[in-house]
Amino acid sequence: MEELYRSAPEVYNAIMNEVEREHSNLELIASENFVSLAVLQAMGCVMTNKYAEGYPEKRYYGGCKWVDVVEKLAIERAKELFGAEHANVQPLSGVPANLAVYDAFLQPGDTFFGLSLSHGGHLSHGYKVSFTGKIWNCIQYTVDPETEQINYDDLLKLALEKKPKLIMTGASAYPRTLHWDKFREICDEVGAYLVADIAHIAGLVVTGEHPSPIPYADAVTTTTHKTLRGPRSAIILCKEKWAKKIDRAVFPGLQGGPHMHIIAAKAVAFKEALSNEFKEYQHQIILNAKAFEEEFKRLGWRLVSGGTDTHLLLIDVKSKGITGKQAEEALDKANITVNKNTIPYDKEKPFIASGIRIGTPALTTRGMKEQEMKKIAEFIDRVLTNIDDDKIIEKVKGEIKELTERFPLYSELREKRKEV
Ligand SMILES: *Cc1c(COP(=O)(O)O)cnc(C)c1O
Repeated sequence: MEELYRSAPEVYNAIMNEVEREHSNLELIASENFVSLAVLQAMGCVMTNKYAEGYPEKRYYGGCKWVDVVEKLAIERAKELFGAEHANVQPLSGVPANLAVYDAFLQPGDTFFGLSLSHGGHLSHGYKVSFTGKIWNCIQYTVDPETEQINYDDLLKLALEKKPKLIMTGASAYPRTLHWDKFREICDEVGAYLVADIAHIAGLVVTGEHPSPIPYADAVTTTTHKTLRGPRSAIILCKEKWAKKIDRAVFPGLQGGPHMHIIAAKAVAFKEALSNEFKEYQHQIILNAKAFEEEFKRLGWRLVSGGTDTHLLLIDVKSKGITGKQAEEALDKANITVNKNTIPYDKEKPFIASGIRIGTPALTTRGMKEQEMKKIAEFIDRVLTNIDDDKIIEKVKGEIKELTERFPLYSELREKRKEV
C-alpha cells in the first residue's frame, strides 16, 4: 500500500488502524467475517475502471473481453456452489438484490409477507421505514410467543386470509433452522412466489450445514460477505424459467454498470467456498455456536428460542436486568464487538433493545475453536455481570489481548505498516 501511503496518509492511517482493530478485537457480529488476501486483492483491481452494462457477450460497451471472463467464472461457480439453474452475480448488495426480486415478481401495491424485524427479519423484508414497505403492501409475520420460532400452521392461516403474492423468508437474527419445504407448501396453497434470503446462512447452506432452499424457492438472494466470506456484495439464484425476469430486473431495471472488480472478487471467493477447507470451516462455525450455547446456558443466560442450530445466538440480557445498548457498550470497552438486537415481543425500542446477537463466523475464520468459545463466553459473562466495574472490564480486556495475539489476523498487512 505504498502509493496509498504517499498520496493519502490520513486515509492510509485510518485503514491501518482498522486492520489493527480487527486484529485486536473479538468480532462477534454475526453478519461479519474476514476475507482472504486473494479476495482483497481482486477487490482492489483495475476492473473498477470498466463499464460493462449488460451481461457477458451482450454488453453495451466495448472492451469487455476480460471482465466477461471474470463474470462468467463467477456465474459458473455460483451455480456449482449452490446447485442452481441460474445465477445473477451483479447485485451491488443484499438490499438491491431483494429489490430486484420484488420488482421481478410483483407490481407496486401488491401484497407480500416478510418476517417482522423484531422477530429476526430484515429491514428489506417490507419493514415500514424501508423503501420495500412503501412500494409494496407488506404484511409482517411473527414467531410463536412460546417457542420463539416460526409457527408454520399460523403462517398458513395468515396466508389463506391475506393471500400474499409472494412470501419472503430468511432472516438476520433467527437462530433456528428454516424449513423451506413447509414454506413451499404454504406458497403452493395460496399461489405465492417463494423467495429465500439466505444472506446470513449462505455458507452453511452450500456446505450442507443448513438445508438448502434451492429446490423449493422461485428465487434465492444472498449477500456474499457474511458466512460466505466474500466481498461486500450479493447474488441472486433462480430457476431457469425466471432467469430473464430476474436479469432484466437487475439490469436495466434497478442498476447501471456492474462493479466488475467486486464480481472478480466474488469469483475468487466462490472458488474458496468450493474447497474442502471451507466445508470444515462451516462445520466449525456450528460447533463453536453450540459451545457458546452450552456455556451461556451453564452461566444462567436465557437464549431466545432456547439455543441455536446456526452460526448465531440471541441472548436475552434484559432477563438479567440490563439493556442491549448497555451490554453492547460495556463489551466494547473490553474489545468485544457485538450488536444490540431486539428480541421477539421486545418492549424496548430497536435503539435500546433487550438482547444482543452474537455469531461465530469471524472468530472461526481466525482459527478459534470450542475451547476459545468457552473462554469468550466467560469473558462476556464477567463483563455483563459487572458493567459498572471498570477494573474488572480492564482485566478482561487484558486477557483478550493475550487471546487475540495467539490468533493473529492480517499479519502480512500489519507487519508492513508505516508510521504516518
Ligand atoms: C445482511 C442482510 C441483508 C442486507 O444486505 P446489505 O448488503 O447490507 O444490503 C439482506 N437480508 C438479510 C436477511 C440480511 O441479513
